[in-house]
Amino acid sequence: MELLFLGTGTSLGVPMIGCECDVCRSTDPRNRRRRSSLYLTAGSTRLIIDTPPDFREQALTFGLRRVDAVLFTHAHADHILGLDDIRRFNTLQKMVIPVYAVPDVMTEVRRVFAYIGRPIIPGLYRPQLDFRVVETPFRVGEVEATPLYVEHGNAPTVGFVLSWQGYRVGYFPDCHTMPDATVDVLRGVDIMILDTLRYRPHPTHLTVTESVDLLRRIGAPQSYLMHLCHDLDHTRLESELPAGIGVAYDGLTLSLTRRS
Ligand SMILES: [Zn+2]
Ligand SMILES: [Zn+2]
Ligand SMILES: [Zn+2]
Repeated sequence: MELLFLGTGTSLGVPMIGCECDVCRSTDPRNRRRRSSLYLTAGSTRLIIDTPPDFREQALTFGLRRVDAVLFTHAHADHILGLDDIRRFNTLQKMVIPVYAVPDVMTEVRRVFAYIGRPIIPGLYRPQLDFRVVETPFRVGEVEATPLYVEHGNAPTVGFVLSWQGYRVGYFPDCHTMPDATVDVLRGVDIMILDTLRYRPHPTHLTVTESVDLLRRIGAPQSYLMHLCHDLDHTRLESELPAGIGVAYDGLTLSLTRRS
């Protein structure tokens, strides 16, 4: 199982347009953050979680050749607006690609992309998607995915537990408050990936301190922070974190090897 971070930034990305701060002007490539997305390879299955506005550039930068399914955490613009570029994978793979989301998220995705699925004039080129509403654990190829709700302002939002060959990964890029029941489900994951926006409080995202506290309660052997804004310098943040908690960056790859 391999996890590739396609993007690790907040909705505005880093650098932000027109910002002259130290992080936005940094030459450390780990401070250049596209909008948040994860590409998962598990055996023969390749799936993507969220299609940000940067999806085309991410697919080109990281050489993506296959997407067996798209999973959405929620319908904020920074997580869905690249969906149209999935049509290139329709062509490459000669197949309709399934899209999975919980009911409220799917309703919003379908509203934003209302043109997808409408009858088209021959020769036009639209994404070929199979929208599949899910509420409970579901299978995508070799992977079992479990959507779990978190509080993230007033947008219905989930994270996913992704299971393959006995491994479990928690992916929660956008979160302000996590229900205790979800924390309980996440105990024992091999890798936990969690929202952290900045040091100062925010109404819809976790602060660094809040994320570290939550990650300690979950207790995964390896944890990573993502969805960072320009207040967070990679090197500085990494030096401040306890052992076992790292800072994700675009292009970071994590591997879990098949258990024998
Ligand atoms: Zn976001
Ligand atoms: Zn800045
Ligand atoms: Zn969001």
